[in-house]
Parts: sequence; structure tokens; C-alpha cells
Amino acid sequence: MEVGSPSMVIIEGDYINPLSDKSTKLVRDGALVIEESTAGGRLIDCGPRDLVWRRLSRKAEVAQVIDRRGMMLAPGFVDVHFHWVQDDVRLMPKDSLLEWLSKYTWPYEAKFKSVDHSKKRAQKFSSELLQAGTLAGLVYGSIHDHSVDDALNYFQGEFACGNVLMTMNSPANLLQTPVQALKAVRSLGKKWRTRYALTPRFAPTTHPEVMRKGMSIAREFDCMVQTHLSESLNEIDYVLELYRQIKGFEDVSSYTEIYDRVGLLTPKTVLGHAIHLSPAEWKLLKKRGSAIACCPSSNAPVKEGGLGSGVFNYLEANRYKVPWALASDIGGGPYLSMLDVMHSFIRQQKRARREASFALAHHRATRAGAKIMGVDKQVGTLDRGSMASFIVLPGGSRSTRSALDAELYWRRLLNKKGSQRADYDHLVLETYVDGKLAFSQIGQ
Ligand SMILES: [Zn+2]
Repeated sequence: MEVGSPSMVIIEGDYINPLSDKSTKLVRDGALVIEESTAGGRLIDCGPRDLVWRRLSRKAEVAQVIDRRGMMLAPGFVDVHFHWVQDDVRLMPKDSLLEWLSKYTWPYEAKFKSVDHSKKRAQKFSSELLQAGTLAGLVYGSIHDHSVDDALNYFQGEFACGNVLMTMNSPANLLQTPVQALKAVRSLGKKWRTRYALTPRFAPTTHPEVMRKGMSIAREFDCMVQTHLSESLNEIDYVLELYRQIKGFEDVSSYTEIYDRVGLLTPKTVLGHAIHLSPAEWKLLKKRGSAIACCPSSNAPVKEGGLGSGVFNYLEANRYKVPWALASDIGGGPYLSMLDVMHSFIRQQKRARREASFALAHHRATRAGAKIMGVDKQVGTLDRGSMASFIVLPGGSRSTRSALDAELYWRRLLNKKGSQRADYDHLVLETYVDGKLAFSQIGQ
């Protein structure tokens, strides 16, 4: 390979590149080569350090060598479902989904009416994302248009965001008319296009007509689509009872079918949770090509900081070939770090007597999510040609004399005795976005 450009940066260290659920490329004593241009830094080569240096034809053009030997380089995380406007409620008491929403979540989201509050919180949240190493994701804002603009203006990486649509069964301070909701969808969809996500909060809060008309706008501008589906059993009863009283839905057989009847299920649709699905619903999702955001730390038992909704059956999703990826679901989930989400996923699956490896969880916290969002050529991998958006983690090969494989690496990092879940938010040592250092705690 011809390597040589006016400005190249080499970063040396071990690295880990998730390829699939079962396969991870872990290179000890490796190096990444970043070519810098006005469009940002791209990875143009990677491999064992000595091989990478040998392949460089014009060493003089290497502008900088960053020594991170003894540390682990990994792709930035992709979080396919979180509510950036719920940062303040993630550790609030969670008795049940519907209660937590009305008692804590909605009053906090109402505060985002203030343009000033929204801007300040977006700046803060942007730093939290960099610190957690999350460089792509699908984001829920509040009902307010500027909550979308602020997220997309401040968050660094590949994010798509939508304003939640709340046109029925919502508190007065968060209630929109269908006309207001659709007007916002049109203007934000036109402005942000593929970075906009049509976001009915969930079936009970959004008129079916608003969802139907919203979808035609989303198609026009090639937007993403996101909503919640079948998170808890109480919720499903409530949704079906409600919809069977609405004209055109009297005979609807499932929660999933409600979304299908309004044309919401497409290959650009990501459904949060989908824990309690019937075989017919799985088949319908497969047929429509829609994906699922699995949010283990949010679904976890109440005593573990979640809403106690149940455990997502990832084996069923695989069996029906429904794409899925991991997500934090802040504030249903208590922590933003995808390391906590990976850890929680394995814990919940083990409890449900399903085997799940860290390698699988890592793949679903990076590449799989990027693929669902259609940005896997840019982020979520350390493949040649992708943007140089990656993180630096502690504990590479210098910290161990034994053979280092991905499983062992993650186990050592995340199962460390005495470590607290909140510590995961501080494990990332450095974060690079498009080749530029955006966060660092090395040498502090
Ligand atoms: Zn959610």
C-alpha cells in the first residue's frame, strides 16, 4: 500500500477492532496511521507497529508520533438510543416506567423550553459524551426545536437527533397540537436531513395521523426514525387499550402493528427496547427491516438503577435476523458510558441463562450500531478508510504477561475488584474525533 501524504500522524499502542459478534481483531504493539486533510483525519493504515513503519514510504512526512504503548486503542462508541435532555433524571428513583416519566422526566424536559438552558446543557452533555468515548448515536431531544439544533451543533461525531412528538396524553406544558408538531418535523427534517430523526415519543403520546404524516416528511428528506416499543408489560396493556378505542385500530393485534399501520416501520427505523414481542411481531420487524436498540442498564432491575422492564432476548433477534445494537437510554439508564452498558448487558443475559461475551457486547456497542445508522464507513470501527475517531483505554499488553485476547482484556478492565459502575464514566483516557484530540486525562 502506498502510504505517504503531506501530513501523517502515527499513534502507537495495542488496538482492538470488533469485526462481528464472534470475531475481534486485537493487535499487540500496533500502530494506526492517520492522514490529515481539511475533511478531517482518516485511518489509512493499521497493523503491527514494525510492519506499519516498514510500509511507510516517506517517513519524513510523518508529522507526529503519539506513543500510547501499554494502552488500548479502540473505536469510539455508538449509542443508538438516549435522551440527552434527561441527564438530570438518570439517578432519580424509578418505581415504574409510566410513573417515572410523569413524576421526573417530563417536568425536567419542560425546562428545555428555555433556549439558554438548552444551549448550556448541550455544551455540558457534549463534554460528557467525549469523556465517555461516545462518538455516534441516535438522540431524543425534548419537544422543543432548539433541543435538536443544540445537540447537532455541539455533539462531536455522527449523531442524528429528533424532537419528541407529544400531541396527546401528555402534560399541558409538553403538549403540542398536531399542526405544531408537523411544522417542527418539516422544518427540522429539511434543515438536518439524514441527521434528523422523526421521533414520536411512543404510540400513546403521538396521534396516529401525526406519525403517518410525519413519516411522509421523513421519507422526503431521508431522515432516520425512532420510537419506543414494548418496554414493559403494563405499557403494552395501556397502549393496546388506548389504541383499540381509536378509529382504524379497533382490531389491532399488537403494539408493533400499531406502528406498522402508520408506516413507521422501515429500514431507517430504530425501536427502543422491544423486550416483550410475540413471534408475529418479530416476523413483522424482520419483514420491514427495522432495527432494535437494546438498553440493558435501563431495563435492569430497579435495585441496579434501571426500570425493571425485563431482559431483551438477543438470541430471538438473531434468529429472526432483526438488526440490534446496544444503547444507554439515558436517563432510563443510569450511566452514559457504553462500558457500563456492555457490562450490564452481559450481567442481564447471564441472569436469563444466555451466554454473552464481552466481544459480542463490544461489537454491538460500536460497529453494529454504526451499521444500523448507516455510518459504519465513518465511525464505530478501526477499519482502513474510516474517520480517525477512536478512544484510548488503559491496560494494553504491557500490563499483562499472559496472551492477551479480547475477552481477557475486557474482563480485566471491567470486572476489576472493587470498581464501581460510576467509574466506567472515567475509564476513557483520551478521545480523538476525526483525528483531533477532543478529550484527554493523560498527564492530568
Ligand atoms: Zn428511551
